[in-house]
Amino acid sequence: MPPQDAPEPSESAPGSLHGKVALVTGASRGIGRAIAEELARSGATLAVVATTAANGEETAAACRAYGARALALGVDVADTKAVASVVDQVQKELGGFDILVNNAGVTRDQILLRMSEEDFDTVVSVNLKGAWNFIKAAARPLMKAHGRIVNISSIVGLTGNAGQANYAASKAGLIGLTRSVALELASRGVCVNAVAPGFIATDMTKAITESATKELTDRIPLKRIGSPDEIAQAVSFLCGPGGAYITGQTLVVDGGLSL
Ligand code: NAP
Repeated sequence: MPPQDAPEPSESAPGSLHGKVALVTGASRGIGRAIAEELARSGATLAVVATTAANGEETAAACRAYGARALALGVDVADTKAVASVVDQVQKELGGFDILVNNAGVTRDQILLRMSEEDFDTVVSVNLKGAWNFIKAAARPLMKAHGRIVNISSIVGLTGNAGQANYAASKAGLIGLTRSVALELASRGVCVNAVAPGFIATDMTKAITESATKELTDRIPLKRIGSPDEIAQAVSFLCGPGGAYITGQTLVVDGGLSL
C-alpha cells in the first residue's frame, strides 16, 4: 500500500508532461536538442533556448512535429539580466514555467599552465553561472508549479580530467548548486537533480581524434559511445512522474565509464 499522501501514479511517457511548460538551454543541437524533442514527445510545451533564436528554430520545428507548442529564443545564458527577461517572456507567451533544463555548455580545454584567465572565466560563466541565472530567475514560477530542475553536469565533475580544469570545476560546481538548491526548494515541492553524461556523440566531442576516441571507447564498460537520446531519456524520467520523489541527486549516464 502506498503512503496516504503519495500522489496518484500518472499515465505513461507519451502524454505524461501534457500541460507542462519546459525550457531547455543549449537546445539547438546535440544533447539539448534531444532533450527538447523528448520532452515535446512526452506532451510538454517547449521554450528552445540557444545563443540566437535562429539557431533554435530547427529544434522548435522538430518539437512542433510532435504536436507540441514550441518557441525558439536566443540568449547568452551568462547574461543575468537577459536571462531574467527570457524567463518573463516564456511565462507570458507560453502561460507558465514547470520544467527547467540547464544544458548549455562550452569547453575551452587546455592544461593548467597554458590556460588563460579568459578561458577559465568563459567556461565557468556559461556552464555554472548560466545555470544559476536561470534557476534564480525561474525559482518563483517553479515553486508555484511544484516544478522540476535538471542540470546537465558531466562525469568529469565527479572524477576531474587533465586538460579540463575549467570545465571540470564548472561541472562539479553544478553538482553543488544542484544539491543546495534541492535543499532550499524541497519544501516548495520542487525537485532538483543533475545528470552526468559520459562520452556522448555530439559537436562537442567531434573534435576528438579517431585514435583518442577508440582508446576512450575501449575504456567504456558498455564498449560504445552514448547517444544524445540516451541522455534525453534520463532527463525525461526525472521530469516526469517517475522523478517525483528524487531530489538532490546526480544520475550518471556513462555506460560505466566512471566506474
Ligand atoms: P554542443 O553540441 O556543443 O551544444 C552546445 C549547446 O549550448 C548549443 O545549443 C549552443 O547554442 C549552446 N550554448 C553554448 N554557449 C551558450 C551560451 N553562452 N548561451 C546560450 N547557449 C549556449 O554540446 P553537447 O555535447 O550537446 O553538450 C550539452 C551539455 O552536455 C553541455 O553542458 C556539456 O557540457 C554536457 N556534456 C556533454 C558531453 C558530451 O560527451 N557531449 C559529456 C558530458 C556533459 P548555439 O548552437 O547557439 O551555439
